[in-house]
Amino acid sequence: MTEVLPYDLVIVGSGIAGLRAALEASRVSPGIRVAVISKVQAMRSHSVCAEGGTAAVLRIDEGDSYESHFRDTVIGSDFLADQDVVERFVKTMPEEIYLLDHWGMPWSRRDDGKIAQRPFGGHEFNRAAYAADRVGFFEMQTLYDTLQRFDNVEIFHEWYVTSLCIEDGAFRGVIAIELKSGDLYGFRSKAGIVASGGAGRLYGFTTYSHSSTADGLAMAYNQGLPLKDMEFIQFHPTGLVPSGILISEAARGEGGYLLNKDSERFMKHYASTKLELAPRDIVSQAIIKEINEGRGFPEPNGLDYVLLDVTHLGKEKINERLPQIREITLNNLGIDPVEEPIPIRPVAHFVMGGINTTIEGETQIKGLWAAGEAACGSLHGANRLGTNSTAECLVYGRITGRHAANYVSKASEKALPKEVIQREESRIFDGLLRGVGSENPYLVKEEFEEIMDRDAYVFRSGEGLAKAIKKVKALRKRAYRHIEDKNRVYNTNLTHVMELEATLQVGEVLLVSAYTRTESRGAHFRIDYPSRDDKKWLKHTLAYRTEDGPKLEYTPVKINKMKPVARKY
Ligand SMILES: Cc1cc2nc3c(=O)[nH]c(=O)nc-3n(C[C@H](O)[C@H](O)[C@H](O)COP(=O)(O)OP(=O)(O)OC[C@H]3O[C@@H](n4cnc5c(N)ncnc54)[C@H](O)[C@@H]3O)c2cc1C
Repeated sequence: MTEVLPYDLVIVGSGIAGLRAALEASRVSPGIRVAVISKVQAMRSHSVCAEGGTAAVLRIDEGDSYESHFRDTVIGSDFLADQDVVERFVKTMPEEIYLLDHWGMPWSRRDDGKIAQRPFGGHEFNRAAYAADRVGFFEMQTLYDTLQRFDNVEIFHEWYVTSLCIEDGAFRGVIAIELKSGDLYGFRSKAGIVASGGAGRLYGFTTYSHSSTADGLAMAYNQGLPLKDMEFIQFHPTGLVPSGILISEAARGEGGYLLNKDSERFMKHYASTKLELAPRDIVSQAIIKEINEGRGFPEPNGLDYVLLDVTHLGKEKINERLPQIREITLNNLGIDPVEEPIPIRPVAHFVMGGINTTIEGETQIKGLWAAGEAACGSLHGANRLGTNSTAECLVYGRITGRHAANYVSKASEKALPKEVIQREESRIFDGLLRGVGSENPYLVKEEFEEIMDRDAYVFRSGEGLAKAIKKVKALRKRAYRHIEDKNRVYNTNLTHVMELEATLQVGEVLLVSAYTRTESRGAHFRIDYPSRDDKKWLKHTLAYRTEDGPKLEYTPVKINKMKPVARKY
């Protein structure tokens, strides 16, 4: 018999968004029983990888303003951001920086003792607060440590959530496997927050941790919730070749150059004012254009590249501001960036789309919110600005944690229906664990990644996307849903197959959304439709699950302050 554990609030995910939500719910309502569930040890959540900074307006006295952060974010989004959401975000964010400061965050400081801020692409003002180039690690540490003060919060490390339970349009809890025993548990709960992170492992060449799969998105989609704007994937300009490990934008923020094979700073042809600090969509498109036109360096596996040069910054500055980048390039390539430029090319880095939410982080299911990269409240539109993501996790962790805690105080307890648990037990233990099939799921994953890396990369075409959709539909029918390892304890074969199901399903949504959007906007560039088309496409995509694949609907962008204009950098 599956045991059912009783909670008031269940949070799926212990990244910055999940931990911040748990903290806020506990501050609002210290008596509330909170479960935070993570498929990896909490402090191994992908958020620890964030490097360069967190955006906030802290220096109004020195010339920054909410209006400027608002304008930069909206223009950066290629006008697909919902402007009410952006306005709320920029005004909420500064307090989050100071809260973290009070909780012990070791922000880098200026000589006058104030929190230091560095430049980042697309921001008019230096507003990226940072802790060297390890901002995510220190934010996670600070949130995790602060959470230890609240004994109402339990963190379930290495528990894999398999599905959300929804009855009569309301959230009832989740089902999860304890990985160390392989046993299935129900978590009965009045409220839930999905903070399961981005789905960057839809690509092979990516900066994301291996745990950043599409589980949370697929769980919501399978419950009838729409996935919004999934065609918009951010390709970060500077992925280390050949591994894809991120070389933070902080390297360009601190003054790094991009050079082609003729040693030319080519960004002057693409963004004559901002140069290397144009938004990521523009810089990534410029790099691939340079490579396609023969001005890159060849690489045996087709990962042709250009160079990121920070040598002129000098050893002292690199050691102080970019120590992790030096460590990464030395360890992975034996290249010391103090002396030699770094080989880079655009790499899958962030999912602008996600579970459709309102400005309050609500989903269409009563008692269920989504926050962080898993959610799409339309803050980033078609292109996110660097440092706005950890910031979003903090703001929306706070907003959703607060709403969920208030909701819990009024909601009554409802049972987790036995049939739901039984269905899940039988799907996993009778279906997947005893399943048979001729296909190696790991090879299926590789095939899928090749399709995505080729056909849904920086430049896309209708023809390529149509072929990719066909191939992914065929992959989904292949016999990969079986597990070689029949043991229950830490069965990573089992979790891999579940992650793969989610990956293929959400991958199909991405491809269909990208195929249908016949324009170029932000990170979605269609070579057959190279212009932005506001008349037809100034709208969000909503993808709903049907038996035949995703069904698309559209919803307007909220534009209450700034009319769309051409982007110039
Ligand atoms: C290398 C890198 C550097 C970055 N640097 C910056 C930066 O400097 N500034 C910035 O603003 N942004 C940066 N970003 C983006 C930013 O790090 C992420 O968008 C953000 O950390 C996402 O946090 P999150 O809380 O939404 O999710 P995550 O931190 O990804 O956490 C997801 C959580 O969900 C859990 N989970 C997922 N599925 C399941 C399941 N089935 N069962 C149980 N648990 C599950 C995971 O275990 C994890 O705890 C960077 C991204 C990368 C890849």
